[in-house]
Formats: sequence, C-alpha cells, structure tokens
Amino acid sequence: MGSGQVTSSVSYGPPELQGKHVTVAGLGVSGVPAARALHARGARVTVVNDGDDDRARAQAAELEALGVTVRLGDGATLPEGTDLVVTAPGWQPGKPLFTAARAAGVEIWGDVELAWRLRGPGAAPWLAVTGTNGKTTTVQMLASILAAAGLRTAAVGNIGVSLLDAVLADEPYDVLAVELSSYQLHWAPSLRADSAVVLNLAADHLDWHGSMEAYAADKGRVYEGNRVACVYNAADPATEDLVRAADVEEGCRAVGFTLGPPAPSQLGVVDGILVDRAFVENRQKNAQELAEVSDVRPPAPHNIANALAAAALARAFGVPARAVRDGLRNFAPDAHRIAHVADVDEVAYVDDSKATNTHAAQASLAAYESIVWIAGGLAKGATFDELVVASAKRLRAVLLIGADRALIREALARHAPEVPVVDLDRTDTGAMLAAVREARRLAQPGDTVLLAPACASMDMFANYNKRGDAFAEAVRGLGA
Ligand code: ADP
Repeated sequence: MGSGQVTSSVSYGPPELQGKHVTVAGLGVSGVPAARALHARGARVTVVNDGDDDRARAQAAELEALGVTVRLGDGATLPEGTDLVVTAPGWQPGKPLFTAARAAGVEIWGDVELAWRLRGPGAAPWLAVTGTNGKTTTVQMLASILAAAGLRTAAVGNIGVSLLDAVLADEPYDVLAVELSSYQLHWAPSLRADSAVVLNLAADHLDWHGSMEAYAADKGRVYEGNRVACVYNAADPATEDLVRAADVEEGCRAVGFTLGPPAPSQLGVVDGILVDRAFVENRQKNAQELAEVSDVRPPAPHNIANALAAAALARAFGVPARAVRDGLRNFAPDAHRIAHVADVDEVAYVDDSKATNTHAAQASLAAYESIVWIAGGLAKGATFDELVVASAKRLRAVLLIGADRALIREALARHAPEVPVVDLDRTDTGAMLAAVREARRLAQPGDTVLLAPACASMDMFANYNKRGDAFAEAVRGLGA
C-alpha cells in the first residue's frame, strides 16, 4: 500500500437472485440461514451436503417445507444448471464441487460474501478483525468500545449475532465489529471493510490452505479496499507486509500497534497508559491518552495488544478517547481465555483452554513468571521447539496429557532438560484431575498453574470448553 495508491472502488449492489439457481454447499450453521435468505429473494435453491445423519435430515425437512431442494450424502457433484454456489466457510477449495463450478464459470461465495452482497443501501460499515489468535477477544472489546460511544453495534462473525442476521436486521446498525476467519476471507472476494486488522500471523490451518503463503494471502484479503485504516501489529512484520501488498482506497492509512512507546501513526503504551499517536492532530508532536493498562482484563501482554488493536479500529471510526476507556472497562473476556479460576495455597490456577495452538500458548506462558504448565492434546501437525525455547525459563514443571504429548516431551528434552516433566500416560477425561493434583504438588507459593494446552482438545474432550471446565472442577476440588 503506497500512500499515493488509488484503486477504483467497485460497487457491488444487491445481486439479482430472482429465478437464479443457487447451490448451497453444506447445511449447518451457515448453510441453513443462507438457503432461507436466498429462497426469500426468489432464488431456486438446492442444498448439497456430504453427511446424511439425523441432524442433517431434520434440517433438510425444515428447508424442504419451504420449497428448497436438499440432496443429502453427496456434496461432490454440482447440480445441473447452477448459476451461483454459496458455500459453508469450512469447505476446502480443492473439493470437486468447486472444481466443477470453476470449470463452468460459476461464481463461488462464502457466508461472508453472501452477507456482504445482501447489505441494503446505507448499510452499516464493517470494522473487520482477523489473525491467528485473539480475534474473538478483540472483536468483543471493539463492540464494547463502540457501544460505549453510544453507537448501535454488535460483535458478529463466529460469535454473537450471525452476520446475515446483522445485515438483514430490521433496525439497522451504525457499525459492525466483524470477526473473520481465514476460511471466510478466502470465500469473500468483494468484501470491503472500512478499516481492518490482522492481529498476528502464525502457522495454522495449513492443511486447509495448502501453504503458509496461501494462508497469509487469505488473511491479507481483509485489507483489500479499506477506506480509513489498515491496522497492523508492529511486532509481527508479516502483518505489515500484508498491508503493503493491499490495494486500498485513496487516503487509507497504515496504522500500527505496539506494546512499546508508539511512533507517529501508531498506538502503543507509555508508562502504563495506552496512547494514540495515529488519530490525533499533529501526530509528530501529540499523543492522546486512551486508557490505563489496568483497564484491560486480563492485563496479559497479548491482551493489551488486542485492546490496542480494538482501540485503533474504533478510533479510525472516530470514537472519542473516553469511550475506549469505558468500553475496555466494561469488557469481560469469554470463558477459558486466561480465566483465573482460584488461588489455592498462594498458587494461582488459570484456565486458558482456548490456547489450542502453539502461538496462543506461547502468548499465555509469556504472561507469567513461574509456571506449572499443563499441556497436550491433539497437535494438528504442530512442532513445539520454538514454544519450549521461548518459555523454558518460566517453567517450574510440566504436566503432559493427551494423544500427542510425546511431541512436547521430546521438545522439552531437547531444549529444557532441567525442567521436571510428568507424563500422564492416560487420555481419559479423568487425566485432568490427576494433572491438577500433580500440579499442586509441584507448585510453589507465587507460581501459576496454567492450562494452556497448545493443542486441540478432541482426543479427550468434546471441545475446549469441556476441557477448561474439567480443569476448573478439579481446581475447585483442591480447595475442598
Ligand atoms: P480466536 O478467536 O482468534 O481464537 P480468542 O480471542 O478466542 O482468539 O483467543 C484464543 C486464545 O488465543 C486465547 O486463549 C489466548 O491463549 C490466545 N490469544 C489471545 N489473543 C492473542 C494474541 N493477540 N496473540 C497471541 N495469542 C493470543
């Protein structure tokens, strides 16, 4: 993005769907509302779905009652005469259905693209958030700040209100805080946010995207056509590279955030205060105080970065400094994200079960001085060397659970052989109770027992929520 770079802005009005044959790929959270919305606009809708289980049949029956055609058990073949495909975000681009669509010159939209195209005239601008980690937290902080400024807004995307409901709402919003995954961005070619941020970029979902380059390129789409600001993480140069590569509207600015003192056109931290040197008069000389670090909960470094990113997007939208402070004060993080469960014998027990990849776990380990770390689960192809090297000096001891725990044990043996490791050779859900008991034995006053597994949970638990609940329950049992 050069300062003088101009791209003509393409206008995408509501599409003409009347009488069009639209194939919706995938039932489920996005497919069912998509099929309904398309049907309501006069499209002839066929839903195709790989699975044919009870849930799919129930959803199919609901749609068939409206006059939608549903084909269960075959998501591979493109129905004859399809004019447009609308896909669930998780469907991989290499699927035969898409190969056939591309060969026939048929456009493919994801759920976000559909919502974007169906916005009415004068629709609310979008402030978009993506990144490998911190999306949900940042979007919620942003919505809280916007609400504190008296704006009608919602946190939408993978959380809260669905995007489609938000854009079709009877009472229009002033502005939307939108969380976008790399999958959703892949399938959203015409999306143009007012301002956007890529919080950070680390290897994740590479099996889906095919390569790190493809993953980064899909994340980078969030900056395309931005009107006001492309916000990047000054500590993660890959995010700034994506800003440079983006085609944006004339006058759109690159704005960084940093945990250190900000340069002009950045937001940062000075003496425990979050300050803005981007959206102020004469930024060479002036800075605006926004909030105190202690207004951010929890005040872990990566969460302060999330708060700065949210503040940057809100300030780009013209929100006053006071609303940033009030919004951050009003914000309460979702469960299982660095949640303080209890103190037992002067040891803090913290649940960061949502740290399902190494990048997230590394951020959370960096927030504490002396840690008894509970880790392990499904590694999803990750390696643990970098994480262990970065965190070794903070580790009092490590408790390993889950299917891929040997990978972490080996990385510890290579880079931190002095750290005691307890390998809990069991993958039943009761292993968490054993882990917490062992952690208590190993922890010293002042330590933090941190569940930050760096792995997915599905080998032992239904999801990361259940894993975090098992941890919290075991901790509460200690106090009894
Ligand atoms: P996402 O929606 O991207 O999964 P969340 O806000 O739900 O992000 O946070 C998921 C986990 O990622 C948190 O539990 C924490 O461990 C970690 N995390 C949050 N913010 C950051 C960040 N800015 N950088 C690195 N890790 C983070």
